[in-house]
Amino acid sequence: MNILVINCGSSSLKFQLIDAATEALIAKGLCERIGIDGSKIVYQPTGAEKKETVTPMADHTQAIRLVIDALTDKETGVVGSLSEIGAVGHRIVHGGEKFASSTLVTDEVIKTITDCNELAPLHNPANLIGIAACKELMPDTPMAAVFDTAFHQTMPKEAYLYGIPYEYYEKYKVRRYGFHGTSHAYVSKRAAEMLGRKYEDLKLIVCHLGNGASVSAVRNGKCIDTSMGLTPLEGLIMGTRSGDIDPAIIEFIAHKENKSVDEVMTVLNKKSGVLGLSGGLSSDFRDLLKAYDEGDEAGIRTVEAFAYRVTKYIGAYAAAMNGVDAICFTAGVGENNPFIRDLVCSRLGYLGITMDEEQNAKRGEELMISTPDSLTKVLMIPTNEELAIARETYALVKA
Ligand code: AMP
Repeated sequence: MNILVINCGSSSLKFQLIDAATEALIAKGLCERIGIDGSKIVYQPTGAEKKETVTPMADHTQAIRLVIDALTDKETGVVGSLSEIGAVGHRIVHGGEKFASSTLVTDEVIKTITDCNELAPLHNPANLIGIAACKELMPDTPMAAVFDTAFHQTMPKEAYLYGIPYEYYEKYKVRRYGFHGTSHAYVSKRAAEMLGRKYEDLKLIVCHLGNGASVSAVRNGKCIDTSMGLTPLEGLIMGTRSGDIDPAIIEFIAHKENKSVDEVMTVLNKKSGVLGLSGGLSSDFRDLLKAYDEGDEAGIRTVEAFAYRVTKYIGAYAAAMNGVDAICFTAGVGENNPFIRDLVCSRLGYLGITMDEEQNAKRGEELMISTPDSLTKVLMIPTNEELAIARETYALVKA
């Protein structure tokens, strides 16, 4: 069965068509600037050339129509008709406390996701628009909702409650939710397979280091803590997001810079992280590492602060789980940068880690990057959120 995976943002839509039986990627693409001048669809069947078409897209329904047209095109398409798409899997950012696993989309599910909108006002409404557009164009195709938050719903209260009045949890569900759950689930399961051990017997730490970044602690196959919180702003220093700060900084900066709370929040979300810390140099680690190599002070302080925070979370989670069997690196920075992995692990000698420099220098494939006798193993595992969504969708449709 072919599964169409949709990741819908407010003005963009990423898609992949995956053969659920072989797990092969059949085609992928992206619609950009939906509802804005200059919208464009990029479409690439596996093994063929990428095709970019600038064409108006007034809304997401039109974007999905173009995706279907591309996939069924007589010359460059990959399926004969819509009937060859067996199901659609939608990435949904926030499932609140309502969804601890993926689910088939029904009217009731749509209503419940809508109830979670205020927890992710930038993401959930866009995800729902994607569902509505697919419903309109493919009314008979089953759809699944796969949540970024679901994997983390196993966290115990001690990990998800904040030290603020309990009534805010009771009234507004203010708590840690965590994100990147599909990636943390996929990578931690792959780690167990790579180690040849039972998932349920392991203590794993997953470092998803991309433009957004988060760490999770997975004990006996269940997430017990993660660095992102009510929103994806908490935790590690990210591309443009601050990660953990003293909450009093918000008021302090608001007074000093004569800004509203909303304006300070925009700074924390869009102008902070490694971009802000480097004095505006870049949010891209390739630029920051180049600056680091050139001895640039901004590059050095930023890369070191980023790596230090990751090391600190690993230490915290090793303590939370009373041990760790393996540490996994994934996502843009985690998969591609041996130097950052080394910098993070250089302070983890107390966990009995010794890095295998030759292995660590490789990329593009799953790797054990610690030496065979390293007490705690270190793994590099490319994440594949779309495949994870396709698997979840297939399992639900098949059941
Ligand atoms: P993601 O959000 O997972 O797509 O990751 C995006 C981040 O990965 C960007 O900040 C890039 O700088 C980073 N990245 C991609 N390739 C490399 C590389 N070769 N070295 C360091 N960082 C990289």
